[in-house]
Amino acid sequence: MIIAAGRVLAAEADLAPGHLLIEGDRIIALGEGIPPGADRIFPDGVIVPGFVDLQVNGGAGVDLLDCRVADLARLSAYLASTGTTGYLATLITAAPHRTHAALTVLSGAGAEGAERLGVHLEGPVLNPARRGAHEARWLRRADDPEVLGLFGEALPHLRLVTLAPELPGSDALIEWLGDKGVVVALGHTEATYEEALRAFARGARMATHLFNGMRAFHHRDPGLVGAALDDGSCVCGLIADGVHVHPAAVRMAFRLLGPDRIALVTDAAGAAGMPPGRYTAGDQPVEVGADGMPRLADGTLAGSVLRMDEAVSNLARWGIPLRDAARSASATPTRLLGLADRGVLAPGYRADVAVLGEDGRTRLTLVAGRPAYDRP
Ligand code: ZN
Repeated sequence: MIIAAGRVLAAEADLAPGHLLIEGDRIIALGEGIPPGADRIFPDGVIVPGFVDLQVNGGAGVDLLDCRVADLARLSAYLASTGTTGYLATLITAAPHRTHAALTVLSGAGAEGAERLGVHLEGPVLNPARRGAHEARWLRRADDPEVLGLFGEALPHLRLVTLAPELPGSDALIEWLGDKGVVVALGHTEATYEEALRAFARGARMATHLFNGMRAFHHRDPGLVGAALDDGSCVCGLIADGVHVHPAAVRMAFRLLGPDRIALVTDAAGAAGMPPGRYTAGDQPVEVGADGMPRLADGTLAGSVLRMDEAVSNLARWGIPLRDAARSASATPTRLLGLADRGVLAPGYRADVAVLGEDGRTRLTLVAGRPAYDRP
C-alpha cells in the first residue's frame, strides 16, 4: 500500500509532498512526491508517526476503572480516531476491589484499533496534599504491604507507575519497580528538589503531567518542576489542553526540554469524545459542564477530554513546530517504554501511522499497517 500526502514527517526531514510504501505491518520505504499508483492521497494532509499516549483513563464513555472486555474495543476505536496507535491503560487510585477487577479485564486480549501497550498505575502511593481526583481514603504509603501486593498482581502488564517519592518506603519501591522493568514516574507529590533528584538517582525516569499535581516552581524552592527541568534526562508528561497548563508554560517547557524530553499525554477521562453530562471515575461521579472539562462535585479536574491530535494541533498553534509536537507524542513515549520498532517514520519500523487533515483532525490511522480508523 502507498499513502501519500502534502507533507510527511519522516525521521530525518520532512518530505513535502511525500509518500510511504507499506507492506504487511512494516514501512518499507519513504520517498518524495506523490506516485501515480498511490492508494491513498491526502494533498492537504500530514503523515505523522502514530501517537502513543502514556495516560488514558478512558474515553468514548468507557471508564477503565469500571469496564467490561467489550468496552475496550470501543475505547480502542475512539483512540484510533484521534491518531493514537498505542496507549497505556491508566488506573487512578481506587478501592482495591475496583483496581483488581480492572486489572482482570486488562489482562485479556487486545482489541482492534489503538493497541493497549500495558497498564499505568497512577497511585496509590501519592501524597494526600496533591491528590487531585484520587480518593484520599485509598492512598497508601510506599511501605504498606498492600502496595507490593497490588503491583505484584499487576506486574505482567505493568509498564508505568506514578508515585510520590517523599513518602516512607519509596526508595526501595522505586528500585524494586526499576528491577522489574517498570518505568517509575513522579507525580501527585510534594517532593522537594532534593527529594526529586534522589528519586531520579534511584531510577525514576519521568515526571507525570508536569506542573499538575506537584508544588509550584519557586526560585528558592524549585520542587519537582525545577528538578525535572534541571535534570538532564527525565521525560515529562504534559497535558496540552490549554486548561491544565498555560500555553506559555508549555512553550517554556519545550524550550528547556525539547521534544525528546516531553511526552504529550491526554489524561483522558471516560467523558472524552462524549457530550456534556454525568460520567464516573471509579466510585466518583464526574460531570462535564459548561466549560467542557470533567470535574468532581467540588470542582477538582478529573482528567481531561483532550484528543491527542488536538494536543498536537494546540502546540502548533502555540508556536511549537509541528514536527516537534508530533515527536513528543510518538518517538518520545515509545522510547521511554523501550519499544524500539515504532514511533518513527522510517524503513523497517512498524507501520503505526496517522494522517492529519488540514483541520488537524485525524483522517486515517494505521496500526501495524492495518486501517484502524478511516474518516469518511
Ligand atoms: Zn494525575
